[in-house]
Order: sequence, then structure tokens, then C-alpha cells
Amino acid sequence: MGNKLIDMRDAGFILFDQLKINNLFQYERYGDYSEESVEMALKAAEKLAVNEYYPVNGEGDRVGVVFADGKAKVPEAYFSPYRKFCEGGWTAPSESYDLGGQQLPIVVNFVTQMMFFAANQSLMVYTCLTHSAGKVVEKFGTEEQKKKYLEPLWSGRWGGCMDLTEPGAGSDVGAIRAKAIPRDDGTFLIKGNKLFISQGESDLTENLVHILLARIEGDPEGTKGLSCFIVPKIRVNDDGSLGEGNDVACTGVEHKMGMKGSATASLAYGDNNDCVGELIGGRGKGIVTMFHMMNEQRVVVGIEGLSMGSSAYLHALGFARERKQGAAFGQKAGEQVPIIEHPDIRKNLLVTKSYVEGIRALLLYTGYCMDMVEVSESEEERQKYGDLIEALTPICKAGGSDRGFDACVAAVQIHGGYGYCQEYYVEQLLRDSKITSIYEGTNGIQANDLMGRKISMRGGSAFETLVNEMRKTIEAAKSDALLPYAKEFEACLELALGVTAKLRDEAKGERAYLAYTWASQYLNVFIDLAVAWMLLDQAAIAEGKPTAGLAEADATFYAAKVCTAKFFIKSVLPQIKGRLSAIEENDDAILAMTDAYFTD
Ligand SMILES: Cc1cc2nc3c(=O)[nH]c(=O)nc-3n(C[C@H](O)[C@H](O)[C@H](O)COP(=O)(O)OP(=O)(O)OC[C@H]3O[C@@H](n4cnc5c(N)ncnc54)[C@H](O)[C@@H]3O)c2cc1C
Repeated sequence: MGNKLIDMRDAGFILFDQLKINNLFQYERYGDYSEESVEMALKAAEKLAVNEYYPVNGEGDRVGVVFADGKAKVPEAYFSPYRKFCEGGWTAPSESYDLGGQQLPIVVNFVTQMMFFAANQSLMVYTCLTHSAGKVVEKFGTEEQKKKYLEPLWSGRWGGCMDLTEPGAGSDVGAIRAKAIPRDDGTFLIKGNKLFISQGESDLTENLVHILLARIEGDPEGTKGLSCFIVPKIRVNDDGSLGEGNDVACTGVEHKMGMKGSATASLAYGDNNDCVGELIGGRGKGIVTMFHMMNEQRVVVGIEGLSMGSSAYLHALGFARERKQGAAFGQKAGEQVPIIEHPDIRKNLLVTKSYVEGIRALLLYTGYCMDMVEVSESEEERQKYGDLIEALTPICKAGGSDRGFDACVAAVQIHGGYGYCQEYYVEQLLRDSKITSIYEGTNGIQANDLMGRKISMRGGSAFETLVNEMRKTIEAAKSDALLPYAKEFEACLELALGVTAKLRDEAKGERAYLAYTWASQYLNVFIDLAVAWMLLDQAAIAEGKPTAGLAEADATFYAAKVCTAKFFIKSVLPQIKGRLSAIEENDDAILAMTDAYFTD
């Protein structure tokens, strides 16, 4: 078995056979890359993840973040791997050369992120947020702001964080109360409190850059009145050197069920009337500015969840091959066999494998779309890939996080009592991975986004672009061997589209409340359809490989691809028919269920 973090054979198959990323190398931006150099980059990331990130993950979980005297102390063991990560240029590898990046295709960087998250989620969260903070500065900052903040962020010398959440404003971002009061020199005095801020305080870096949402005094209520600010922990002089402290006080860190090595801070700004922030992205444009960072982060959180599910699956597979219990199926007595032989375990492993591989492909497909937006020369093509990203973002976020968590649950179950014990990595993975369905917009909010925005976006044409891509895969898979599977997927897709049309209307009319009670169910239907889409595509590629001269390992890999797709499409996907039928029925019993009926 490989590294037990991510199946690199599968990742390579997705990159080079399914997405054919060699196409990207013809564009100037990625012209310095080749299949060989991408493989070298992946090997370097794998080495760092396996040898540096993974070994300190257990310690980070045990030691956690310690809060004392207003400081958050990050586990000591994280410092050395963090430095190596930064020295290797992994903080912003896909950014342009002139900004200190390596112009590594985004899709390739997604694979490296999958390894780092699987190896050590807590440590990875620090660098991901730093990258996102830098992205806001790059996209919306003035030249002066870029000069001051970009290099320290993307080199990892400073950390970045995104400060949205407040006690009264979680999902309801428009309820933010943090205030910004204009000062004579064009900067703002920031006052307010935030909580749950990842890397809101840490000693891992010499400074922190808060990208913060607040309301300029006098601006309207709701999201429209929000603006975005750069608030450094330590003020930065014009020449880039560090000045005095900035009245950002950490009032505590959370004690969490997982992700214990990540500092989740409560912050108070301006208690001494001396917290200075710089406006970024324009007054009242805070949500647009922040959403730029959040959209990228949503897909990354999908990667985060899936990565932990992937590692849990590989650990469960290894365990199921070694652990012996019971005689072979149908035998009353006899030698104990590995539990992978038992039907229930075999089925659970295959369900998990299907979701892990299908969603991994979906996430990488989305990364490829991001690359195409970056390099496409025609407006039409950019629109197409942009539409795909929009439609896929909630599916990636919720699919990666929920199915990743399910994979961790299955892995603990496959380990039996051992899975419940701390000696086994799956116990930590299960605790750590839960957060991915909660932050960056809970999965309930993702469901609302799919139903309320994405299926109607641009008159429904963005969603139609996605459906057209699915239909292309169905047509290409209508070979002799895969015809029944292509047809089953087609039938399920058409059923889902019928329900989509109904929901689209109902979500805007009198039955809107009822329609939204189904939003999560509907999102889950599309997660399953997207997995089936990716797996069918993979099966068609595997079926098309000439058998003569294939190495045995490759022949086994391709045969497994076909098997996995067939299993998922015939044995898992059809379960959406029941869910769709319930959505279509749209029975209104739930409306009669008043608050009083929920007896406690
Ligand atoms: C470990 C950790 C790290 C975090 N890191 C950050 C960070 O770096 N920066 C930051 O700003 N925040 C961060 N957060 C906060 C996180 O983004 C919020 O917890 C999340 O947005 C949900 O907000 P809430 O906790 O207030 O829950 P609520 O918004 O109160 O939601 C509670 C439940 O109600 C549901 N709900 C709420 N509104 C609706 C609605 N309109 N429709 C349907 N369902 C709804 C939600 O889906 C959820 O299930 C972090 C949180 C944690 C725990």
C-alpha cells in the first residue's frame, strides 16, 4: 500500500487520463510544466506531507493550542514542518512568478493540498487562510497594500485570517456589528468583537493580517453596508518593517472536539480606541471582496473533508486486510478470515471507495475549470468554465465535507472497537473532519445556495452547462459494456431535472418555505449524480484502454475502475429515486408541525 493519505495512482489517473491536464501545458502560464515536472512536484509534496506533516499530527492533537496572557501558543512540533512548507514554496504555488509563486496549475496544487490536509489538517488550515488573505490583497488591494502585505503573506512569514463571525452573526453575515470609524488620514478605527477566528492569534508567524468585515458608521444594515478591512496584528511601516501593536486582543481560544492544533480565537478590536484598519475593495463592497476569498475557500474545504475521508478509507482498507474474525462466509467453522472477506465490510469499503474516488475527481475537475478560466483565450470558454465552477461549488463543498465525514464514520466502524481508541488514526480523523460541514458556510447554507441561486443563475444557463457536460459523458459511455450503466445514470439525471424544474418554480412562489425544507436533500441528490458522472467517465476511459501489454497492476487498476462505477451506478445511485419522489410529492405535513409540537 502507498502513503495511506491519498491514493497517488488514482490522483495520477484523474490528472493525466481523465482531465488530460497535459492540455494546460500549451498555454503560456503553464508552459514551463510537463508531465514529468508535475510528477516531481507531487513527489516533493508527498515527501513533505508524509515525513513532516503526518508525524506531528498526533502531537498537535494531544497538546493542542495553549492560551496564556493573551497569546495563543501553537504546538511546538508544528514550527519545523511549517518552515519547510514555506521554504518549499507551498504557501502560494499557483500564483504568478512575479508575485513569488510557481505558476503550478491549480488542479495540481489541489492534489498537494489533498495530501497535506490528510496528513495534518490543523497545520494546513494556517497556510490555507494565509493564502486566501493574500488573494484578497492581490485582487482588491492598492499597489501600496500589495507592496506591504503580499510578499510576507505568500512567503508564509506572516499569517492571514478571515474575520467574519461574531456571537450574533454566524450564517447571518448581514448581522455583523463590528464598526469602522473614519480617521482623518483615510484609515479607520475598528471596534468590535469576533469569535471562532482560525489563526486569529498565533505565535507561528511574526505578524498576522486580519481580513475583517465591519460596517462603516452610518452605512446601511445588512450585507450591503459591510466593508472589508486589512487589520494587521502589528502595524506595518511604509518600508514594510514592523511597527507598534495594533490593539487587537485575543480573549481566548476554543476547546474543540477536533482540529485541536489549530488556534480558533476570540478577538476584541479597539478596546483602547487604537485599532487601525485599512479599507480594501471599496466602501460597501465587503461581501463581494470577501466572497472572492470564500468561494475559493469553499472548494478548499471540500478538499479538506475529502482528504480526511480518503485517508480514513485507506487506513480502514489496510485494517480490513489484516484483522481476522470469523470463518469464511457460509462456513460454520474454520480458520478466521480477514474481515474484508465479509459481505458487509466489503460493501462498506466499496461504498466509501466510490465516494472518495468520485468526489476526488469532482474536486480536481473543478480545479481544472479554475485553470481554464485562468488561461482561456475566448470569452465564451471562460464563461463556460466559470459557470461550471459556480454550479459545482456547493456540490464540492458539501460533497467533500459530508461524504468525507461519512468515510471517517465508516472507517471507525470497520475498525470495530479499535477505531474508537486513540491509537488508531481514524479516531482523530473522525473528530477533525466534522468541522468541514460547518465552516465556510454550513452545508445547510450550501443547500440554500444551490437551490436559491445556482439552479436559476443566468436564467438557469449556468446549471444547464453542468448538465450538458454530464450528458456528454453519458453519450460517450454508451458502449456495449457500459450501456446499462450509462442508461441508469441518464434515467436518474432526467428524473432529477424534472424535480429541479418544479423546485425552481416553487422556490419562488407560495410554497417556497416547503421547497426549502428539501434543499439539503436536493443537494445530496446532486452530490450522488456528480459522483456517478465522474465514475462513469472513469469507467469509459478504463474500458477504452488496450489490454495487450498492460502491466498487471494497471490492468487491476482499470478493472477496479469499471467495477466501482458499475457498483455505484446500480447499487447506490438509484437510492436517489426515493429521495426525488419525496421531494416531488412535497407533502406539507411539515408546515403543520408548529413549534409547540416539538415537545421536549
Ligand atoms: C473551528 C472553527 C473555525 C472557524 N473558523 C472561522 C474563521 O476563520 N473565520 C470566521 O469568520 N468564522 C470561522 N468559524 C465560524 C463558522 O464559519 C461558523 O461557525 C459558521 O458559519 C456557522 O455559524 P454559527 O456557528 O453561528 O451557526 P448558526 O449560523 O447559528 O447556525 C446554526 C445552524 O442553523 C443553520 N442555519 C442558520 N441559518 C440558516 C438559514 N438561513 N437557512 C438554513 N439553515 C440555517 C445552520 O446551517 C446550522 O446548522 C469557525 C468555526 C469553528 C467552529
